[in-house]
Amino acid sequence: MPTIITEKDLLEMQKKGESLDTLPAGALLTPSAKDLLSSLGKAPTGAPARPGSSAKPKNGDTYQVPPLPDFEYRWKKGGDPVGNKAIQAFFHSPEIVTLKNRMVDIGRRMWNRNFVDGNGGNITIRVGDNMVLCTPTLISKGYMTPDDICLVDLDGKQLAGTRPRTSEVNTHIAIMKATPEAKSCIHGHPPHSTAYAVASVTPPSCLCSEAEVFLGEIGMVPYETPGSSEVAERVAKIAPDHCSILLENHGVIVWGKDVEDAYWKIENTETACQTIWIASQLNGGQLHSIGGRKMQDIIAIRKQLGMSDKRDGLKECELCDNSEFRPGVTCEVRGPEEAATGDIPPDERDPEAEKVVQMVTDTIMQRLKNA
Ligand SMILES: [Zn+2]
Repeated sequence: MPTIITEKDLLEMQKKGESLDTLPAGALLTPSAKDLLSSLGKAPTGAPARPGSSAKPKNGDTYQVPPLPDFEYRWKKGGDPVGNKAIQAFFHSPEIVTLKNRMVDIGRRMWNRNFVDGNGGNITIRVGDNMVLCTPTLISKGYMTPDDICLVDLDGKQLAGTRPRTSEVNTHIAIMKATPEAKSCIHGHPPHSTAYAVASVTPPSCLCSEAEVFLGEIGMVPYETPGSSEVAERVAKIAPDHCSILLENHGVIVWGKDVEDAYWKIENTETACQTIWIASQLNGGQLHSIGGRKMQDIIAIRKQLGMSDKRDGLKECELCDNSEFRPGVTCEVRGPEEAATGDIPPDERDPEAEKVVQMVTDTIMQRLKNA
């Protein structure tokens, strides 16, 4: 994750007498940090580094900032191989073998992390206008070899490979058709995320900053038979707005720009679900919300990273509405002090509520004194 600089960080730097002219290359500035720099007459220099851009250290040497690694597979539009011979040659070409190896590696990582059980889970990578690499059916994802990988077209018809393709490839293809940015999909049954899917509880938002930046809002679709056209239709409908989707009574499906990116998203999903579950056992079930104002910073960071967010433009009070989260957990904690000085601007506070809060606080303080 790139360094993210907030308004508070800049104020801290100022306090310590540090210059705001030399922010780390590649750092992302939150909107309030940018506003502060502008108000000080400084250009926001912490914009994302372009591959190969340079930063000059004080000694005058120039360090060439290395470009970010990019695993996205880019095919030539209209250039799919035609005819069995050409398709087989493509399927065994070095660039496709590299992707097959990556799928095997991801399968092993999923199995090691308990994201898949038995022969469950599947992985796909789009490699052409009408071609998708996919894992085979009835195989442990922890013990695949590159030769096990299959090739199908966007109707799910198998084009190459020595084993039959997964029956769930249609769901992956439906996502790819609905969301062209989805170049790779991963499906698994990670226990914590799947527990939310089994309980039909959408994980609440505004709690885990990492998940908020890289996943946005996690989606959920009602139960349909795995591999059926109904589940494919339901998932395709919400995929453009959700890169991570819980499948009721089944598991999780995620999409990314490449297979590594998709894998990170299933890890992010599982970690967020596990963390929220553990946190909901602490502090009497009271979870601290990031809050609408700070969530707007996160949505701005997502946009800077090239990820759209359907919540963009929502009001602060609408951003963290977790009223549907049901395991008896309150997602917003705001003590009287935070209410007085926290992120509710004075003109938006309810004077009657303030009075009640003050009365309760005074009573508690009096009782503590008398105790
Ligand atoms: Zn499954």
